Amino acid sequence: MKAMVLHGLGQPLRLEEVPVPKPGANEVLIRVRACGVGLTVVILVATPGRVTSYPRIPGHEVAGEVVETGSEVKSVKAGQRVTNHFYLTCGQCANCRSGRETLCLSSRGNVGAACDGGYAEYIVLPERNIVAIPGGVSDVDAAVASDAIATPYHACHKEARVGPGDDVLVIGAGGGVGIHMVQMARLCGGRVLASDIGENKLALAKKWGADEVIDARRGELAQQVKALTGGKGVHAVIDIVGNRQTLEAGIKALAVGGKLVIIGTKPKSVYKDDPSFMLDPGDFLHRGLELHSSRYVTAAEIAQTLELVRQQRITAVVTQTFPLEKVEEAHELIRNNATAGRIALVIDG
Ligand SMILES: [Zn+2]
Repeated sequence: MKAMVLHGLGQPLRLEEVPVPKPGANEVLIRVRACGVGLTVVILVATPGRVTSYPRIPGHEVAGEVVETGSEVKSVKAGQRVTNHFYLTCGQCANCRSGRETLCLSSRGNVGAACDGGYAEYIVLPERNIVAIPGGVSDVDAAVASDAIATPYHACHKEARVGPGDDVLVIGAGGGVGIHMVQMARLCGGRVLASDIGENKLALAKKWGADEVIDARRGELAQQVKALTGGKGVHAVIDIVGNRQTLEAGIKALAVGGKLVIIGTKPKSVYKDDPSFMLDPGDFLHRGLELHSSRYVTAAEIAQTLELVRQQRITAVVTQTFPLEKVEEAHELIRNNATAGRIALVIDG
């Protein structure tokens, strides 16, 4: 089969012919039809310690059809269309058993880092990672839903707990996760203030439901937010950029009792700048603020997200697709912050 293979930390991926993997007793072989591409994978292939061994095939937002199942697999059958969960969890620890599987205490790592991923014609995954795609949802939409739409579902519903009429600031609103965060926050009833840099990203955020758009280069972010909320600030800040400037501005932009939700960050090992930020404990206490981490989603939340896509309550915003062998071009666009919305690979054959 054709695959894009990583041979060392931060190296460019190479198109190679490799054997089709065989599923073990509790595993499933999937013919890959689409694979989402986002910042997570770009960071993952360049961060020391994440990829467990080489050669490795990256890619973790997969959609395709099951072609073979291991002898112990019961919940999926050949021919079924499926997507996947990104974490290789144990299913047995206290966190897995209490619906916090992204905090698995015995995690083996991630798909595309600790096992081969979806930048290939076929992939083998544990049965536990498989999520069925409902009829009427395309492969590309399902692949994007498994991470770039599901992550906003968890962030808005479980962490920010966005309710009707809440003011919500989304920082990094024009990117692959951000554009779905704008839609999800609105679906939860929020009034969405979308912040990003550049006209095309802000126009995209507006198109997909932002009530207000804020160009972060045009003056201080917190002041712009205060001006748009009658001086009160927002109920929740959802920060997808996660650097020192955005996090400190996010805290200033919160209303009394507001929540800062951190979705992602740019690690120092890849981006050189230290993302650590200052928090005045007196201010934090006095204003009754909440600080939340939002780590990915559960498999059940992916299923719920796919249902929202099926109901057309939320739309996968895929602005560019690439063939498998052009994935490096997609990575370069993401590295340079030159994309709006999500990118996906479409794998023919
Ligand atoms: Zn576990």
